[in-house]
Amino acid sequence: MTTPIPATLIPGDGIGPEIVDATLAAFDALKAPFEWDRQIAGLGGVTTSGDPLPPATLDSIRRTRLALKGPLETPSGGGYRSSNVRLREEFQLYANLRPALTVIPGGRYDKIDLVVVRENLEGLYIGHEHYVRIDDDPHAVGMATGINTRQGCHRLLEYAFDTAIATGRKKVTLVHKANIMKVLTGLFLETGLRLYEEPRYKGKFELETMIVDACAMKLVLNPWQFDVLVTTNLFGDILSDLVAGLVGGLGMAPGANIGTDAAIFEAVHGSAPDIAGKGIANPTALLLAGALMLDHCKLFDQATRLRKAIDDTLNIDKVRTGDLGGTANTAAFTKALVARI
Ligand code: NAD
Repeated sequence: MTTPIPATLIPGDGIGPEIVDATLAAFDALKAPFEWDRQIAGLGGVTTSGDPLPPATLDSIRRTRLALKGPLETPSGGGYRSSNVRLREEFQLYANLRPALTVIPGGRYDKIDLVVVRENLEGLYIGHEHYVRIDDDPHAVGMATGINTRQGCHRLLEYAFDTAIATGRKKVTLVHKANIMKVLTGLFLETGLRLYEEPRYKGKFELETMIVDACAMKLVLNPWQFDVLVTTNLFGDILSDLVAGLVGGLGMAPGANIGTDAAIFEAVHGSAPDIAGKGIANPTALLLAGALMLDHCKLFDQATRLRKAIDDTLNIDKVRTGDLGGTANTAAFTKALVARI
C-alpha cells in the first residue's frame, strides 16, 4: 500500500469549493494517497473566525508542508491584506511556476508549451505603499517601494535554470525592464547573467534576455519562440495571465508556489464571484494544479493519468464547460472526467 501523504486542503472562496470538489473526485478515482486536513482562509476565514488566515490553517501547512488551495478573495483598495501574499511570505514560497500548454488543439494559438517562472516574494508586488498628503488632499500622491535582493533573485533564477534542465527545455528568456528600472530589475538581470556563467548552467540551455514590453508583444505575435520565461513578481503576474489567454483562458491555467518550507498548488484564476454558486465553473485549472502536485510528490504515473483523462474528456468526449464554448456544468464535466480515469 502507498504511504499516505498528509496535505492541507483549503477549498477557498467563490467557485473554490466547486472546483475543489471536482479535483477531489479525480484524486479519489486515481487513488491518490493524500490524507487531507481541511482548513479555511480568505473571505471564508473572515466570516467564520474574523481572520483571513486563521492560525489553525498556518499550523496545518507547517505540519504538512503541502497544500491544495482554491482561490481566496481579496478586497480591492482597502480591507484585509491578501491571504495569498501572506501565505507566500509565511512559507517563503519564492517560486511561482505557471505552465501553459495547449490542451484543446485548433484554436487561434495551437501547440503552445511554455512555462513562466515568476519570483513570488519581492519586487513592486510586495505592497509597501503609502499616500502623501499635500494641503487638504490626504491622497495627493501615491507611492510604492519595490525591493529585489541578490539572494532572492539568485534562488529564483537557480530554480528556473534547474527546472529548465530537469524538464529538457532548450531556452530560458529572462524578462526585465532594466533600461528604465536600472536598479530594481537591473539586479535581477545582472544576477541571471552571472549565474548563467557557472559551469552547471553555461551551454546547458540558451539564455536570452528581453525587455518586458517587447516580450508582451512577441508573446502575442509569436509565442512559439518561447520555452521558459523567468521574471520578477509583477511582470510575472501580468505575463502569466497573458500566457493563460494563449491556451484558452484562466480556466486552463494551473500554478505551483514552491518554497523552502512548503509547496502550495492552485489555479491561476480567482474566486470568480460572477459565476460562484452556479455550478458552471471550469475545474480544469485546479485539476492541472493537482497534476503538478502529484508531480511534486513524485507520483508521476498518477499525474500522467490525470492529464490524459483531462485531455480525453475535453478532446475525445468533447465535454466542455461554458468558458470553453461547451454546455457541460461542473458536475457533468467531473463525471465525464472520472469515467476517463
Ligand atoms: P477571476 O479570475 O476570479 O475572474 C475573472 C473572469 O474569469 C471572471 O469572468 C470569471 O467568471 C472567469 N473565470 C475565472 N475562473 C474561471 C473558471 N474556473 N471557470 C470559468 N470562468 C472562470 O478574477 P477577478 O474577478 O479579478 O477576481 C475575483 C477575486 O479573486 C478577487 O477577490 C481576487 O483578489 C481573487 N483572486 C484570487 C486569486 C488566488 O487565490 N490565487 C487569484 C486571482 C484573483
